[in-house]
Amino acid sequence: MKKAAIVGSGLGGLSLAIRLAVKGYTVDVFEANTYTGGKLSNMEVGDYRFDAGPSLFTLPYLVDELFSLAGKNPSDYFTYKKLDEVCRYFWDDGQQLTVPANNQAFDDLVADQFGEKSGAVLTYLKDSAFKYDVLNGLFLQQSLHKLSTWLSRSALKGYLNLGKLGIFGTLHKHNSKFGNPKITQLFDRYATYNGSNPYATPATMGIIPHLEYNVGAYFPSNGMHSITRALSELAISLGVNIHLNTKVEEIIIENKTARHIKTQTHAFGPYDIVASNMDVTNTYRKLLPKEKHPDNILNQEKSGSGLIFYWGVKKEFKELGLHNIFFSNNYKEEFNHQFIKQDIYDDPTVYLNISSKHSPPDAPSGHENWFVLINAPNNKGQNWEEIIQRTRKNIIKKLSQRLNVDVGPLIVCEEILDPRTIESKTSSSQGALYGNSSNNRFAAFLRHANFSKSIANLYFVGGSVHPGGGIPLALSSAKIAASYID
Ligand code: FAD
Repeated sequence: MKKAAIVGSGLGGLSLAIRLAVKGYTVDVFEANTYTGGKLSNMEVGDYRFDAGPSLFTLPYLVDELFSLAGKNPSDYFTYKKLDEVCRYFWDDGQQLTVPANNQAFDDLVADQFGEKSGAVLTYLKDSAFKYDVLNGLFLQQSLHKLSTWLSRSALKGYLNLGKLGIFGTLHKHNSKFGNPKITQLFDRYATYNGSNPYATPATMGIIPHLEYNVGAYFPSNGMHSITRALSELAISLGVNIHLNTKVEEIIIENKTARHIKTQTHAFGPYDIVASNMDVTNTYRKLLPKEKHPDNILNQEKSGSGLIFYWGVKKEFKELGLHNIFFSNNYKEEFNHQFIKQDIYDDPTVYLNISSKHSPPDAPSGHENWFVLINAPNNKGQNWEEIIQRTRKNIIKKLSQRLNVDVGPLIVCEEILDPRTIESKTSSSQGALYGNSSNNRFAAFLRHANFSKSIANLYFVGGSVHPGGGIPLALSSAKIAASYID
């Protein structure tokens, strides 16, 4: 029986483990933490439960298909529902927009309340669907590092539609076709879904809203963490050995072939396949110190990071939903601070997620669990203590003004995650949330492949490699890697 070793039990690692177990491999997963899931994990603070990382779930079929592949019924392990509300947006001048999960109703609201032409949002979302249709087969299901991809039918579709994919302009310019700057800002925010800057990332990123509006946003019945919990259960049921609290120190290469795994105390192997779900930059720098490194990829600017406050709040707010955004008054300056000044702007856009709105056990009755995320620069050794204290005050001020209540005294417990702790907890280079940044038009080509070109049997999965960061793409990375194994 063939044997595979996987470094890391994030989404990419778990889903590759499942795919290889189904192919008949004996699989060992080595995880540095005492829990599985990496960025998609769980946190309990006082009487409150929080999803530590992702809060938005799209393309659930990518999770379901892992169960189906293993001959199991997905809903025996994992259930979710489609949300009937996408997000609540708040601006400081008092204007507010609750976006329903119905594109016609969204379009009508934007026309009535923001003065856009009727049909403008529908046209935008149609373009988003078109981009997805052209790029899905090419980027999201295959490696860009195989000649066969560039000779495929999906590549031909890409060549024929090159001019319509928005490669040459920025997302902000593309979104400026809306007359009202608030609607431009709303669609600019999608750049942050892969940690990039709407004033620099190509308009191709206009693909992202397709997932949330045309396909749908979902909520797992027991919170986001149930995704990785269910995948861990599935992997274990297929015989995958998950070694928790086991940090890999080196991938041993023999005759240009990945063969063994070295931890602090043991050597494991030989293996037929070794795959790393650790951030690719750190995989080379820490686990493959003697091998030649693809520095042109590893030295690319990393994506943005996040500063997250997990607050137990002793009040319920009827005006808030699951996903809430309190926009900055100066979005451009906010991104200048994040990507150029490497700081957090004093009027940041505040993302407030409250899972207890859909999963009441996450907070005591009459209370709410607030996950408050601010886009942050990645870790370059900034004075984080100063930034955190300053930003905390600014967030409380902004939310208090907008919600007409002093939020500070309502916070009964707190935990904080910042770029340094994201880095130390998940081994993500500079605490970036999505690997390399997508702030230029060549970004898709500057991600590492899902396999090594120079070391046999070595594969890479997760949000730092092709096709990119975020739940759907981390799952797709494992699908692509598995398709090249055997
Ligand atoms: P990771 O989650 O990066 O896990 C890697 C694992 O490898 C970790 O468990 C780590 O401990 C382990 N590891 C590393 N090195 C070693 C070693 N040497 N030995 C053993 N184990 C090792 N995505 C969305 O789609 N929607 C969102 O709303 C969203 N919001 C986010 C909010 C936050 C705060 C964060 C942090 C991320 C968010 N993301 C979101 C991104 C998403 O979480 C990630 O893209 C995805 O979870 C990455 O999965 P991965 O496979 O790369 O593994």
